[in-house]
Amino acid sequence: MNLILLGAPGAGKGTQATKIAERYGLVHISTGDIFRANIKNGTPIGKLAKSYTDRGELVPDEVTCDIVKDRLTWEDCKKGYLLDGFPRNLFQAEALDTFAKIDGVVNINIDQALLLDRLCGRRVCRECGESYHVSTLGGRTTCARCGGELYQRKDDNPETVAARLEVYNAQTAPLIDYYTKKGIILNVTGTEAPADVLFEDVKKLLDLL
Ligand code: AMP
Repeated sequence: MNLILLGAPGAGKGTQATKIAERYGLVHISTGDIFRANIKNGTPIGKLAKSYTDRGELVPDEVTCDIVKDRLTWEDCKKGYLLDGFPRNLFQAEALDTFAKIDGVVNINIDQALLLDRLCGRRVCRECGESYHVSTLGGRTTCARCGGELYQRKDDNPETVAARLEVYNAQTAPLIDYYTKKGIILNVTGTEAPADVLFEDVKKLLDLL
């Protein structure tokens, strides 16, 4: 089973992605994680991506599509994969159609008024990627799951979050229509729902595929 996870930044894609990948035995492929790893390691892709990610803008389509196209040829993808953060616009969606067969698109709907606080208060584990909100941490600086160090993503600040939401609304949201027309969209509502409750809804839909 090959899936896409759609949703605005802060909708909870990362948390759902971990749960979905675990339950259905899929490889979790996050383009954001790929770029952050490249930036950390100072690779040529990282050097190029940094200026875009710092501003909340999209890394150029050709670069991003080549990375995903290559990643999907790895042996582990034969068991099925979950794309998180890709595609982000129509160009990428059409490119993906030329090299992948997608079975379902989980779209997390969320009230955007919640997102600024969610993202600016987000802390992420450097080791396992689990995310938390600062208001629930009580000053703790390590991950409850694996003990890794928690950090704040550089793009989780008010200016960059505003830019990322603008990019989402202008470029990514039209993909909901694109995949609805293909008849493969699976809509869930993320607003207010704790991650476990949301995952119950996701499971109900995915178990039918
Ligand atoms: P994310 O972790 O998905 O929020 O992505 C963080 C940043 O990585 C985005 O704001 C973009 O700068 C970049 N990025 C991630 N995925 C893509 C993509 N599919 N196309 C272009 N840029 C991306």
